Amino acid sequence: MHLRTLTLRGFKSFASATTLHFEPGINAVVGPNGSGKSNVVDALSWVMGEQGAKTLRGGNMADVIFAGTSSRPPLGRAEVSLTIDNSDGALPIEYTEVTISRTLFRAGGSEYAINGSSCRLLDVQELLSDTGMGREMHVIVGQGRLDSVLQATPEDRRGFIEEAAGVLKHRRRKDKAVRK
Ligand code: ATP
Ligand code: MG
Repeated sequence: MHLRTLTLRGFKSFASATTLHFEPGINAVVGPNGSGKSNVVDALSWVMGEQGAKTLRGGNMADVIFAGTSSRPPLGRAEVSLTIDNSDGALPIEYTEVTISRTLFRAGGSEYAINGSSCRLLDVQELLSDTGMGREMHVIVGQGRLDSVLQATPEDRRGFIEEAAGVLKHRRRKDKAVRK
């Protein structure tokens, strides 16, 4: 499984539709300060269901929508689509290519879709939950976040690894069952 493309439309500084193409292996996004590298990483978290405006470096969720510049008016919606190569079947879905999309409207309301069919946030989370991607993920380490990983307690560090390995879901289920 690997990321194939990421398309941003009205997301943060990407007012016009912009598609990034990824190859298997290591990919690098380079550019001058303020050119939007971190915004690309934010878009990746966002399309996979990130709910925390702070994690996305904003005050509230609408801050992900292109806010306008001196030469360009603000936009009414942000849209991000992520296409994943699933030819190894790592995602539990019968498609060799899977596109996850998320749209947020300034007027309120948001939408998720998997391969063009609208779905719930939960469906996106379930789809990604065994891959080490998605919700509460620790596979994306933001600028300045490295310190908190390095200085984490052994328990926290185990949590990071368990999340990335896809074990945490089972631990949560077990804890819930034991509490009953
Ligand atoms: P650095 O190398 O300093 O880390 P970077 O390439 O990671 O820079 P980003 O943080 O991705 O840069 O981009 C910051 C730019 O994105 C700023 O110019 C900021 O004004 C712009 N930006 C953020 N949110 C929005 C928005 N909603 N609308 C328009 N522009 C935005
Ligand atoms: Mg940055």
